[in-house]
Amino acid sequence: MQHILIFGDQLNLEVFGAFNPDNTQFLMLESTTRGRTYGFHKQKLALVYAAMRHFRLELEQSGFRVHYRSCEAFSDGLKAHFDEFPRLELGLMQPSDFGMDSSLSEIVSQLGGTLEIFANPLWLSTNTDFDAWAQGKKEWRMEFFYRQMRKKTGWLMDGQDPKGGAWNFDADNRQVPKPGHQFPPKLEFTPDAITLEALDWVEGMFKAHPGSLEGFNWAVTRDQALQALTHFLEHRLALFGPFEDALVEGEDQLYHSLLSPAINIGLLSAREVCIAALEFAAKPENNVPLQSIEGFTRQILGWREFMHHVYRRQMPALRLENQLNASRALPDFYWTGKTKMRCISSAVTQVLATGHTHHIQRLMVLGNFALLAGISPQAINDWFLTLYVDAFDWVVTPNVIGMSQYANAGGFTSKPYIAGGAYISRMSNHCKTCAFNPKLTTGVTACPFSSLYWDFIDRHAAMFKNNPRMGIPISNWNKRDPSERTAILERNREVLALLEQNLL
Ligand SMILES: Cc1cc2nc3c(=O)[nH]c(=O)nc-3n(C[C@H](O)[C@H](O)[C@H](O)COP(=O)(O)OP(=O)(O)OC[C@H]3O[C@@H](n4cnc5c(N)ncnc54)[C@H](O)[C@@H]3O)c2cc1C
Repeated sequence: MQHILIFGDQLNLEVFGAFNPDNTQFLMLESTTRGRTYGFHKQKLALVYAAMRHFRLELEQSGFRVHYRSCEAFSDGLKAHFDEFPRLELGLMQPSDFGMDSSLSEIVSQLGGTLEIFANPLWLSTNTDFDAWAQGKKEWRMEFFYRQMRKKTGWLMDGQDPKGGAWNFDADNRQVPKPGHQFPPKLEFTPDAITLEALDWVEGMFKAHPGSLEGFNWAVTRDQALQALTHFLEHRLALFGPFEDALVEGEDQLYHSLLSPAINIGLLSAREVCIAALEFAAKPENNVPLQSIEGFTRQILGWREFMHHVYRRQMPALRLENQLNASRALPDFYWTGKTKMRCISSAVTQVLATGHTHHIQRLMVLGNFALLAGISPQAINDWFLTLYVDAFDWVVTPNVIGMSQYANAGGFTSKPYIAGGAYISRMSNHCKTCAFNPKLTTGVTACPFSSLYWDFIDRHAAMFKNNPRMGIPISNWNKRDPSERTAILERNREVLALLEQNLL
C-alpha cells in the first residue's frame, strides 16, 4: 500500500483521483504552525483549511482512505503517521514553494522513511520547456516565453502565426469604465456546515491575524470552483481585455476572474481554465473579442507559468534581492488603510475585507507606492504574502521582488513599473474623492505619488541612463527648470517626513 502526502495547495481531484484506492492511501496534515508562519489573513486560512476538509471528503467519497491529521507542526503530524506506519515510503507531488521538498525529505528520513517526489502535472509548461527556451538568453522576457507556449499549445494560433495577426492587444486594453457603468453580478456562495466549522475554528485559533472573515466568499470545493469559472466566462470574459487595467473605487472584481485562489490551491487546473475560456470564446454567439481571450490566456499561459519558472530557477537568491538598496520600513497604513491617499486606502480596506485586490491595485498602487518610497522589498514581499488569499511564496516572490519592486534590477522586466498621480487619475476614479491633487507636484495638496515618482527618477537616473524605456522620463526630468526640480524634491522631503510620522 503506498501513502501519498497531499499539501493544502495541491487539492486536485483529477491528479489524486487517478490513483487506485486498492493500493493508495492519502495523508493530509492540518498544521496550525504552518498557518501561523506569516500571520496569514484569516480568509486565506479559512480558504485553505475549509478546502482541505472538503477535499478529504471528496477523496473518501471516491473510495480512498485518508489519514487526516491535525497537528501543530508538519513534523508532529509526520511523526504520528510514521509511528503508525513505520519505514514508510511516502509519495509527494513536487511542491511549488522553495525548500519544501528538501526539508520534508530530511524530516521523513529522520523518522526512518523515505520521500519519493513525483512531477506536478498541473503546470502548463515543463521545466524542460522553460530551461531550453532560457538557455543562453541574457534576459528573460515573459512575452517571448509566452509566444513559444502559444506555439506549443496551438492556442489562438493560425498555423505558425498568432490569431488576428498580433501576439498581444495590450494597446486596446487600457479603457476605463464610464461613470455609472453597471458591472455584472457577483457570484455568491452559501457556506455549508464544513465551511462554517472551518470559519469558526480559524476565528478561534488565529484571532490576532489580520483581516475579517465576514462575507467570506471563496470557492472551497471543486463544485464551487467550477461555478466560479462558468460565472466568469458568462459574465466577465468578454470585457476582460478592455477594462483589464482599470481601477474603480469600491470595485474589486471589475472584469477579473477571481480564480487565482482556486487555481493556486488546485481546485481548478490552469489547463482546464484556459481550455474552458478558449472554447467559450470560440463560439461566435458569446461575443468574446480576441483582445479579451488573448489577454486572459496571456495571464495564465504567460505570466503564471513564467513566474513559476523564474522562482524555480532563481530561488533562494531572488527573495533577498535589493538592487535599489531600498530600506524604508513598511508604513502602518498598509495594515490599517488609514491614509489620505484614496487609492491606497481603498485597496488596503479591500484586502483587509476580502484578502484580494486585482492586479493593477497590486502593481500600480500598492507596489508602485512601495517602490517609489524606497520601502524594503523584503518587507513589502512579506506583506503581500501575509494579506492575500491567493498568496503562495512561488507566486508572490517573483511578482513582488521582480515585477513590482524591480529589486532584481530588471531580471525579467524591461523597466520598473512606476507611475505618478497622473496615471492613477487617468486609470481610476479614486482621485475625485482624494485629499490630494494628481495635477500638482508641489504644495501641501500635491499627490504624493507625483513627487515620489520624480524623486525616484532623480535618485536612480544613473542606473537607468542606458535603459531606452526610461529615456523619456529621465529627459523630461532633466528638461525641467532647476528651480522646479528643487521644489518637487523639497515637496518630496515633506511627503517622506509625513510618511515617517504616519501622517500621509
Ligand atoms: C505585487 C503583486 C503581487 C501578486 N501576488 C499574487 C499572489 O499572491 N498570488 C497570485 O496568484 N497572483 C499574484 N499576483 C498576480 C495577479 O495580480 C493575480 O494573479 C491576480 O490579480 C488574481 O486575480 P484574478 O484571479 O481575478 O486574476 P485575473 O486578472 O482574472 O487573471 C487570470 C489569472 O491569471 C493568473 N495571473 C495573472 N497575472 C499573474 C501573474 N503576474 N503571476 C501569476 N499569475 C498571474 C492568475 O492565475 C489569475 O487568476 C501578484 C501581482 C503583483 C503585481
